[in-house]
Amino acid sequence: MFMNSLVNHVPCPVCEIGLNTGTLATMLLSTPRGNQPWARCHSCRSFFAANEYDPGQEVEHTRTRPWGIVESGIALNDEKSPMFEAILRTLRRYAQPGSMLLDIGCSYGGFLMRAQDEGYQVRGIDIVPEAVEYVRSRGIRCDRSGSAGDLDIPENSLGIVTALDCNYYWPSQRKELRAIRYVLSAGGLLAMRTVDTSWAIQIGLWLRRWFPNTGQRLCEKAVYDHRVSIPARSLLRVVEQEGFEIVYTSPRDAMPFRYNSLKVKTAYAVGQLAWRFTGYNLAPGFVFLARKATS
Ligand SMILES: [Zn+2]
Repeated sequence: MFMNSLVNHVPCPVCEIGLNTGTLATMLLSTPRGNQPWARCHSCRSFFAANEYDPGQEVEHTRTRPWGIVESGIALNDEKSPMFEAILRTLRRYAQPGSMLLDIGCSYGGFLMRAQDEGYQVRGIDIVPEAVEYVRSRGIRCDRSGSAGDLDIPENSLGIVTALDCNYYWPSQRKELRAIRYVLSAGGLLAMRTVDTSWAIQIGLWLRRWFPNTGQRLCEKAVYDHRVSIPARSLLRVVEQEGFEIVYTSPRDAMPFRYNSLKVKTAYAVGQLAWRFTGYNLAPGFVFLARKATS
């Protein structure tokens, strides 16, 4: 199942260390994007899609997912509302009332509408044109873009940037974090919900030695349609290195839907305990809040 690819050096899409692809072990996974080569960074331990990022394909792919289709995208606004509320609860403790807030990958605006109700001055960006149009139709400023760096937002002008369930599609974590830091004011906040299934891929790879099909399926399920799978600790380290101070972390707040299965609830309860007592994330999702450091 493993093969060695023979290209050149590529930067890790998470920590940016140079990786020699000639010696990089890759695995071929069947994903909703088709067969994809995936590799692992030996430094930050992230798994990532080794094929090139194509913005046009990313839009077309997103249009095939529930969050990229009008009807199901709008339905997700309600289904994900408990997660949005959990993030707003935490923001209330750390953010100035009425702050300017940018939501990256805002989809059909579920979080933006709730944040606006809380008194924040909101603005969104998304790569899917239909989602942008819908958010605009709700009276919220929204631009078609995948990055805070694409916009004409002045330096030090925003109080809050949120990125809920989108960082695992970014082509470069550090590049986007730098763009976010640029637009945030001193002491401004970054709130992120991410998915960390790197531990499940690790188990899948281990299982694959004895049960090839089961192990392969677990890897593919864990990867889903993402481009990167980052251990929570590695992501937090990169965020700190990019000039942020982590002020809050919670696997439990990342519980995704209004109605979660017992299996999902158990995974988050166990994940919360593991994070608290060992500092390792074992939950499928993870929420954190980081403040732009001033020095
Ligand atoms: Zn790395």
